[in-house]
Amino acid sequence: MDSPEAASANPQVAGTLSRILTPIRGRLCVAAGLAAVGGMLTLVPLAAIAHIGARVLGAGAQLSSEVWWVVGLSALSLFAGMALIFIAELLAHLADNRLTHHLRRAITQRLSRVPLGWFSSRASGEVKRAMQDDINTLHSLTAHFYTTAGRAGGAVLVSMVYLLAMDWRLALVSLVPFAGYFLFLSRAMRASGASMQEFVSGMARIDNAVVEFVNGIPVVKAFGASGKAHGAYRSAIDTFATTFIDFTRPLVASMANANAMIAPVTVLGVVLAAGTLFVSLGWIAPVDVLPFVLVAPGLSAPLLLLHYITHDLNNATGAAQRVQGLLDTPTLTQSAVQLPSGNAICFEQVGYAYERDHAVLRDINFTLQPGTTTAIVGLSGAGKSTLARLLLRFFDPSSGRITLGGADLRHIDTPLLYQRIGFVLQEVRLINASVRDNIALGRPSATAQQIEDAARAANIHERILRLARGYDSMIGEDAQLSGGEQQRLSIARAVLLDPPVLVLDEATAAADADNEVAIQEALSRFAQGRTLLVIAHRLDTVMHADQILVIHDGTLHEQGRHADLLAHGGLYAQLWQLGDYARSESQAVQPC
Ligand code: ADP
Repeated sequence: MDSPEAASANPQVAGTLSRILTPIRGRLCVAAGLAAVGGMLTLVPLAAIAHIGARVLGAGAQLSSEVWWVVGLSALSLFAGMALIFIAELLAHLADNRLTHHLRRAITQRLSRVPLGWFSSRASGEVKRAMQDDINTLHSLTAHFYTTAGRAGGAVLVSMVYLLAMDWRLALVSLVPFAGYFLFLSRAMRASGASMQEFVSGMARIDNAVVEFVNGIPVVKAFGASGKAHGAYRSAIDTFATTFIDFTRPLVASMANANAMIAPVTVLGVVLAAGTLFVSLGWIAPVDVLPFVLVAPGLSAPLLLLHYITHDLNNATGAAQRVQGLLDTPTLTQSAVQLPSGNAICFEQVGYAYERDHAVLRDINFTLQPGTTTAIVGLSGAGKSTLARLLLRFFDPSSGRITLGGADLRHIDTPLLYQRIGFVLQEVRLINASVRDNIALGRPSATAQQIEDAARAANIHERILRLARGYDSMIGEDAQLSGGEQQRLSIARAVLLDPPVLVLDEATAAADADNEVAIQEALSRFAQGRTLLVIAHRLDTVMHADQILVIHDGTLHEQGRHADLLAHGGLYAQLWQLGDYARSESQAVQPC
């Protein structure tokens, strides 16, 4: 059970919700207002019955034309109230549609401007959750909460005003059970609040244990250790069972008391007892008790409804916070647009820190001359990928600057930047579309011939033709490609853009021998004549590079050509002696 106070007590949380609802706030207020009036009107028949009863019993009168007027008016009120509630619901649902559309567009626009590095450090599930699940959760708030609150609030308000107008003393006594309800409810909330944290952690522990258990099934089956596999899961469940009992025991008693307090029969009992007393004291006539008998027990339902919808409010508040978090994601800044003149790239005193005060790159200076190949080497964790990703504007440098043709990357229009600098990284991302659309992702206007030429250059054309629907096959449906084939598809994508600068993370680990040859062939053909920055794992790439950058512990430790660096006898020479950079990470190499 959620704490109803949680959402409303924190002004920051309430502020987030209010910000999210800004585009439809007016419509929601109108919907809530209409529902409130509708809720009030639907209660008119009860007052009418009490009125007729009073006339018939009190005066002993015959049914007169006045009674028929009252019946007609109350029927009219009932239908008008229902019509208003219907209009309010319709308005709220239309507003919900509008908000969903607005939020999905706003998030998409925002995400198109966040640094690429933001995506690599996050699971796509997080974005999916906010874009789809959280926006759907907001539906209960926008489409239902305001109208329900209006309807229930209107009914409670008009009932109380009516009873107070009838007889304020009996009205106050009739409301005593409701005061008792709030007393027990607050006690229940206090009791559950104390163990809520433990309850939530217990649920999280079960979630983790389930994921761990399911992920481990193949390994467990393979090694025949099925008994042990669900040990963590069982222990999480056992712990949770204890927590759950601690959590619910005080809650159940208080909630049972609270619900008993406003059960219609309790309210009716109080009204009848107090009414009898008031009549015997001569304070009111017996017939005056009738409105209380009819209306007071009816207060329970809307009050309970108001309590239940606070749960929706809590869920929606969490969802709103996550959606707002996505909308507040820092974007890449582009202060002034500058056109690069030429394709020379300069790193000028570049530093970068993923987390504050923990620099992973410091004071990096080098130039990539057009048409040259630069190999980055170094131990694992030295900062090679970070360096390459800075050039691709996955992130902006924390200090210093990177220029392309004299223009700071931060001032270059993003589409232009990716026309000039292409990349083929180890991590291939294919979208849920046809093979053709995947290749033409960066250049949707490309002709079928251009797409095929790019696929040929990437050694993937023949493979695509063997797919069920060739270039129209859908990735993940009738186009199931191996890791190496996906890599070749991503090379075709880069080839189609024909960028003068190429950043390459030499990847062969995921590919089989045939794929590796195909990938290497495609890459060497593609790299010809371009400025190439390559995170090198292959010795021949390093040997034939025009320039080698040896990165160590975030700094540019050595720089030069293969022969010169070998002759220098420093860190590069040590790495070279170890043979393979990719495998040397576990060995202790001391910087000179
Ligand atoms: P290399 O490519 O040389 O193996 P990286 O550039 O990947 O090295 O990493 C350099 C350092 O930055 C490492 O200490 C790594 O743990 C850290 N690092 C890499 N990516 C992230 C990230 N997304 N968030 C925080 N730290 C990171």
